[in-house]
Amino acid sequence: MKTIGILGGMSWESTAIYYQLLNQMVRDRLGGLHSAQILLRSFDFAPIAELQSDGNWEAAAELMSDAAVALEQAGAGCLLIGTNTMHICAYAVQAALSIPLLHIADVTADAIRAHGSKSPLLLATRFTMEKDFYKGRLSRKHGIDVQVPDAAERDDVHRIIYDELCQGVIKPDSKSRYLEIVTAAKARGADGVIFGCTEVGLLISPDDLDIPAFNSTELHAKAAVDFALAGDA
Ligand code: GLU
Repeated sequence: MKTIGILGGMSWESTAIYYQLLNQMVRDRLGGLHSAQILLRSFDFAPIAELQSDGNWEAAAELMSDAAVALEQAGAGCLLIGTNTMHICAYAVQAALSIPLLHIADVTADAIRAHGSKSPLLLATRFTMEKDFYKGRLSRKHGIDVQVPDAAERDDVHRIIYDELCQGVIKPDSKSRYLEIVTAAKARGADGVIFGCTEVGLLISPDDLDIPAFNSTELHAKAAVDFALAGDA
């Protein structure tokens, strides 16, 4: 079994889910007392979130790259950036590594394509919904035409992620708002929902929806376990 390196803490609410999923999936595959081999670098999210809102992506990329190199040197066989948003730094991080970075948009795209969804709605931070690094990758590399919520909806989706979900706050009104946004997107032709922020699954679940959900956290964890166990199980 190979060791999975994770850049986490962004936020730790979702890193805790990664930790649980990785261990559960390895136990499901290998049985008994088996669990995942993980190297986790967990950041204090407050200064990272400040770099994000200041648009200081260069400093963020340097932090991510340095931490990723340390995980490789410590023995990681692959790297996960445990947040969709910070994949804005994915090129810089991969360039600093000789181990593979398992890109969250690629593993999510594989599931979307396998399901045959053509125009899924992206629920994510403002950075992920508005910048090109994620939507552009889905469209250019994978031929998926992502829908984003309208401006007022994006404000709410983003605010709920940072002010609530990343702080462990789960509110029924916020869940209703997310579901309202999904319903509006469905009326515009959305045929799936990308949980494109690693905390979205804390608020809504596939059972709340009548179109397919693509949960980036779960898909990312599964890709890491597939990588770690390739050749073992
Ligand atoms: N974890 C979130 C994501 O997947 C948002 C927090 C962050 O900006 O890293 O994008």
